Amino acid sequence: MRVSRAALLLVAFLVQSSFAEEPRWQAGAASVKITPQRRLHMAGYAARKEPAEGVEQDLFAKALTLQDAQGQRVVFVTLDLIGVFAELRKSVVGAVAERFDIPPRAVLLNASHTHCGPAYNREDARDYMEQLQRQLVDLIGESIEQLAPAQLTYSHARCSVAMNRRTPTDDGFVNHPNPNGPVDHAVPVLSVRSAEGELRSLVFGYACHNTTMGFRRWLGDYAGYAQEYIEQDFPGVTALFMMGCGGDQNPYPRSELKFAKMHGRSLATAVGAALEVNQRKLRHQRPITGSLSAAFGTVDLPFATPDRPDFPYPVQVIRIGDQITLIALGTEVVVDYSLRLKRELTRAGGPAIWVAGYSNVYAGYIPSRRVLLEGGYEARSRPWKPVLEERIMEKAHALVKEVSK
Ligand SMILES: [Zn+2]
Repeated sequence: MRVSRAALLLVAFLVQSSFAEEPRWQAGAASVKITPQRRLHMAGYAARKEPAEGVEQDLFAKALTLQDAQGQRVVFVTLDLIGVFAELRKSVVGAVAERFDIPPRAVLLNASHTHCGPAYNREDARDYMEQLQRQLVDLIGESIEQLAPAQLTYSHARCSVAMNRRTPTDDGFVNHPNPNGPVDHAVPVLSVRSAEGELRSLVFGYACHNTTMGFRRWLGDYAGYAQEYIEQDFPGVTALFMMGCGGDQNPYPRSELKFAKMHGRSLATAVGAALEVNQRKLRHQRPITGSLSAAFGTVDLPFATPDRPDFPYPVQVIRIGDQITLIALGTEVVVDYSLRLKRELTRAGGPAIWVAGYSNVYAGYIPSRRVLLEGGYEARSRPWKPVLEERIMEKAHALVKEVSK
């Protein structure tokens, strides 16, 4: 069927006039290479004692700033790094509040948890840590400079790369792919288009360790490839990977570079599916309307070891219009948290519930009550009391209420 020029003009007019009535979003993205320029130790596997030997793929930090019609802003920063150390967040949000007048509650820092990035909290990596702090503040400044009228949409697809990695045996739970264990295969996507409808940036989430590889070369792993492939598939687009609750999830098969590339291709393809590429009519892109709001709090998590002070665990909720509620949990959260939050908070016609992990702090595993009581690798990391799940859930619910007013 050929579409007449008059029909096309009518569609363009309808899109433009409906857009003109909407509150105007502004969005700006920026990206910076953060591959170490010298030999540094690698983060993620204790057994790997020697520093990195070279670069397989550059590591990036990316920022997306959104601004609503009232001028309120939120900033997303995604990092091809093991985690967000508390010192990094503290220094960056402090400088961002001072320089750009954006409150810390509106700044989300998320790390992909690649195991082929630098151990940048070590004393011998001070120069990298300090440079990274400056780079991230400048990066956010650049994304603010890039602010331009935008249309935002939400959509999602699925990708089955992640497998649960807790297999029950007679000797307890072992680290091994478990085809029967819980997973979260959702791929949530926030699309940013220019006022004219041109795709500019994509934020996409996935809940799975970036541990296909453990060699001595810098690599973003499957998430690094997914971002690289998306930026190839959609020239001019900045792709930001937002790590989900993948604490007990691994990509399989592993340990060969070809698998990291395949997993990245699978995830990039899922993002294309979420965007309904090559469909004549788009039916699942939800235009985002309304305004931004953000809430941030900490909840004290108690250790089972006597006299060990509670851990101040950060929970952040960012409401992106009436269509997305993004809950960002700190450090290595297992999949039970995202499944439970989505189950408890999803309402028909309500905002999509998007749960990120590995955000704003990096300090070991956060098992659910179930995982803690079952035991195994993720439960042994730190001696939590089983009450941790209820405390985190209560805080998340309270903050969701706060941003939903
Ligand atoms: Zn991990």
